[in-house]
Amino acid sequence: MTLDDAGSKPDSPLATEWRASPNHGPRQGVDRPDLLLLHYTGMASTDEAIEWLCDPARGVSAHYVVREDGRILQLVAESRRAWHAGVSSWAGVQDINSRSIGIEIANPGHDHGYPAFPEVQIAAVIALCRDIVARHAIAPARVLAHSDVAPLRKSDPGEKFPWDALHRAGIGHLVAEEPPTDGRYFMRGEHGQPIEALQAMLAYYGYDVPVNGSFCAHTEAVVTAFQRHFRRSRVDGIADVSTLATLYRLCASRTGSAPPDGA
Ligand SMILES: [Zn+2]
Repeated sequence: MTLDDAGSKPDSPLATEWRASPNHGPRQGVDRPDLLLLHYTGMASTDEAIEWLCDPARGVSAHYVVREDGRILQLVAESRRAWHAGVSSWAGVQDINSRSIGIEIANPGHDHGYPAFPEVQIAAVIALCRDIVARHAIAPARVLAHSDVAPLRKSDPGEKFPWDALHRAGIGHLVAEEPPTDGRYFMRGEHGQPIEALQAMLAYYGYDVPVNGSFCAHTEAVVTAFQRHFRRSRVDGIADVSTLATLYRLCASRTGSAPPDGA
C-alpha cells in the first residue's frame, strides 16, 4: 500500500469495491486527467484479469474495472497515473497515461470469442463515464478507445462496444455512420493525393498516422482503428466511400469547421 492508497475511498461513488493495485505513479506535467480511455480486459476470466492488474510483476493497471454484472471496482486513485495505455499517441501527445483515466471493461476480447457486452454492464460503464467526465470536465471527443491511441498494437474495446449507446447518454463524440456500399475505395499499397487527404483528416482528428500519400501498414491499422470506433458495421482497413464520408462528418462536427483538404 502506498500513502495514496492507505485508507482510500473510491473517487467515484459508483465504485463499490476498492482493490489497491501498486501499478501507478505520479502524473507527469499535468494535474488533472483530460482524456478517458476505454479498454476491455481481454482475458477469459475477469478475476484473473483483476489479479493481473494488481500484480506488481505485470506492471499494468487501470483506475477502474467494470465487471460483466455491472459491479465497479477501483484499483488506482484518479489523482495517480495508472499504467493502462502503454506505448500510445493522440493529438501529438505520447504520455497518454499522465493525461487519462483508464477503465477496463470485463470482456474476454477478440482472442476468446468476443461476446457481446451485457446491457447491465454497459449501463454501469455509462454511469461511470458520466461521473468521471463531469468531475474532470473531459471533452466528448476525448473519450477514446485503447485502439484509437495504439492502433498498431490494440483492438480494444472493439467494434462490439456500443459507442452509440454512450453517445445517446451524452458520452463521447460520434456521428451517424454512412452505410457501407460497394464502389470506389482506397486500400493498402496505393499511393497518391487522395491517400494523403485521408491521412490528413485522420491526423487532424488526433490519430498518429504519417501524412505522406502512401497507404502503408500503419495507415491501414489507423483506418481499422477508426472503423472499430466510428464505422463499426464493417471493420476491414479499407477506406471506402462510407469510411471517408463518416470521417469527414466526424471532423467537421467536432469543430464546426471544415477539416483540411476535403474528401
Ligand atoms: Zn486496452
